[in-house]
Amino acid sequence: MIKVGEPGWIETEKPVAGPLDAICKPIAVAPCSSDTHAMHGGAGPMENRILGHEAVAEVVEVGEMVKKFKPGDVVVLPCTTPDLAGEVKLQEKGGNNAHDLDSMTSFKFLTFKDGVFAEFFSVNNADNNLVLLPEGVDIADALMVTDMMSTGFYGVEMVDVNLGDTVVVFGIGPVGLMAVAGAKLRGAGKIYATGSRPNCAELALEFGATEIISYKDGNTVEQILEKEGGKKVDCVIIAGGNCNTMNEAIQLVKSNGHIGSINFYDVADTFTIPAFEWGLGMADITIRGGFCPGGALRAEKLLNLIKYDRIKPGKTFNVEFHGFDKIEDAFKLMDEKPKDLIKPIIYIDDLD
Ligand code: NDP
Ligand code: ZN
Repeated sequence: MIKVGEPGWIETEKPVAGPLDAICKPIAVAPCSSDTHAMHGGAGPMENRILGHEAVAEVVEVGEMVKKFKPGDVVVLPCTTPDLAGEVKLQEKGGNNAHDLDSMTSFKFLTFKDGVFAEFFSVNNADNNLVLLPEGVDIADALMVTDMMSTGFYGVEMVDVNLGDTVVVFGIGPVGLMAVAGAKLRGAGKIYATGSRPNCAELALEFGATEIISYKDGNTVEQILEKEGGKKVDCVIIAGGNCNTMNEAIQLVKSNGHIGSINFYDVADTFTIPAFEWGLGMADITIRGGFCPGGALRAEKLLNLIKYDRIKPGKTFNVEFHGFDKIEDAFKLMDEKPKDLIKPIIYIDDLD
């Protein structure tokens, strides 16, 4: 991101490893909608920032205090890399380690430092953030763990999907697809998912959606409530849409129900809450918005789901590029979001 609205290439110094850091080079990377959103100014003004925060990588150098990793290790890198305080927060106190010092401060790439669309990048607190690629786990599946799966599943965790629940997932891009898959793993009964891209719809059905609702075919709330005979649903996960989607979610969820948003809104967005559907403010509807949890513990657990054949998330990548320079093409594709795209992957198989 050279500046807002202008993606391109920059030359910069190779990062130097601090005592707790690892320097890595990418093996496979993928663009996230948050990268393109940031490029358009959604995260505020930034200049000469290397984007990218989803990577499977090779360690090339470690700081003097790194104990668990060495050059040559192939690692999965969660996009959220808390400092130690964040990891302790996750283990001992509960809560989300995405907020190690303050709101989202564990999201170092993009926000505070250069990301993974680079020949070399630096990972803070390497021992607590990196995970060795487990034997038998495919690189594409592992790459989905770094952000999409952790984020989508967090939507499911925030709304506490229970056995037999009726769940609505707004959005069937890569994040929403993982929310659908996570809701199924947690035992949801009916899963409505909204979106219009046909490949995404097909994969959503494969991952566990029972009904696809196209927001382009009319009012989403009316379409779902009609199918439910007017009955409201247990939980709504928001992984797409716009600032009216929160309003729609409130119209859809029952009293005592839960709404969990993992969407990235714009700095200028505000929401309206329909008071009647919110029980005049007294319906005990929980509204949460959350960020992708990170760190090694989280990634290890998600990798377990892949290792033991509970999910094959790598199917989400339906366009494949090879070569470092192709990051640019993949990024443009992610920005344009053509109708047949789900998500591109780039295998960096041309770096020494
Ligand atoms: P996509 O753009 O691929 O997917 C968005 C989905 O929402 C699509 O299925 C789209 O439908 C659907 N949609 C669009 N408008 C509406 C509407 N009005 N009503 C219902 N559905 C609608 O995005 P991603 O899956 O890549 O990412 C989703 C969001 O998650 C982004 O905002 C991203 O920045 C954010 N994100 C957040 C993270 C976090 O930690 N909280 C981490 C990673 C990403 P269609 O099929 O027509 O395109
Ligand atoms: Zn992301």
